[in-house]
Amino acid sequence: MPADDWIAAIVRRAKRQLAMTETIGWPEGVLARALNLVGAPVDLHGHRFITTWTSAGPPHAADRPCEVNGFNWRCLGCGSYGRQGDTYNDPGYRDRRDAQADAQAHAERCRFLAAQ
Ligand SMILES: [Zn+2]
Repeated sequence: MPADDWIAAIVRRAKRQLAMTETIGWPEGVLARALNLVGAPVDLHGHRFITTWTSAGPPHAADRPCEVNGFNWRCLGCGSYGRQGDTYNDPGYRDRRDAQADAQAHAERCRFLAAQ
């Protein structure tokens, strides 16, 4: 195994162990946490938001906007947060699996680490 791969494997294992042992310090309401490429948390949390779509989602417009319980994620490295869909943006996700998958995808691309 090349030295760079070996070091990367050690860093990944250390990040996993750190994430598992630091759940006590998580902000209230955080349901799950991913770490971006430099170790900044990407937190999944519950989120109540107003949607203009029916429960079927875009492109099924509701008769009027309604408030729903859902989920969202926020990256504490770069400040980004989730928006469901590229075209029909809702300020949250109705399905936890969708929110978690997008949070994970962001964590796998993001290299930002904000100053404390
Ligand atoms: Zn980020």
